Parts: sequence; structure tokens; C-alpha cells
Amino acid sequence: MHIKTAKVAMDSGVRRNPTQYYWCKKYDLMNIANEDYLILKKNKPKDPTIRVVPMEQYFDILMEVHKRSGHGGRDKMLYAIKNKLYIQKRAIEIFVSFCPICESLFYFVNMATLQCK
Ligand SMILES: [Zn+2]
Repeated sequence: MHIKTAKVAMDSGVRRNPTQYYWCKKYDLMNIANEDYLILKKNKPKDPTIRVVPMEQYFDILMEVHKRSGHGGRDKMLYAIKNKLYIQKRAIEIFVSFCPICESLFYFVNMATLQCK
């Protein structure tokens, strides 16, 4: 669901379908510098503000996180965005599996292991 649809659903408060209802329970909207951001609803006020990354920004953000973590794997990346950003785990896995540098590293390590035998 798109952020605008979510906003309309939350603002209007009428005739929510089950998807919208689910979204309203799970997410919140935050306005920073006139831009709406979708965040995960906090259970407690002290909970960290976790921004839900829109699909169209996945690539840029994953690239940044991946590079910053020194081409870290899924778990390293999940740890890096923990309490800050929300990105689907599956998307991270796919991203890592498509990184040409990681792939060649993987290949290199495997070759080295084979040659030791
Ligand atoms: Zn990589």
C-alpha cells in the first residue's frame, strides 16, 4: 500500500477495509519538513522511531547500508538498520545475493578453500 493511501485511510477514519485497519494499527505517520513518513507504531513512547522504507527507496538505502557495513551479509545489515529503519528481510537477502562484489568474494573464498584440500 502506498503512503498516500495510508494517509487518506488514517485521516478519513471512515469505511476502513481490513487492510487499512491493519495498517492503522501497525503504522503511524510522521511529518518531517512537510514530508510524510511512515513509521512503525510505537508500543511505548520510549520506543525508537523506526521509519518504514518505501519500496522505491529500497535499492538506494540497501546499497548505502551494505557498503557501510563492508559488504556485510543479511544479519549485519539488519543489525545496522535496527531501531532506525524497517526493510523487509527478504529484500535484504535478495539484495545481498545480487551484489557482484559479494559474489566474487564468495567465489574467491570458495576457491581458496578448495585449493587447500
Ligand atoms: Zn556486497
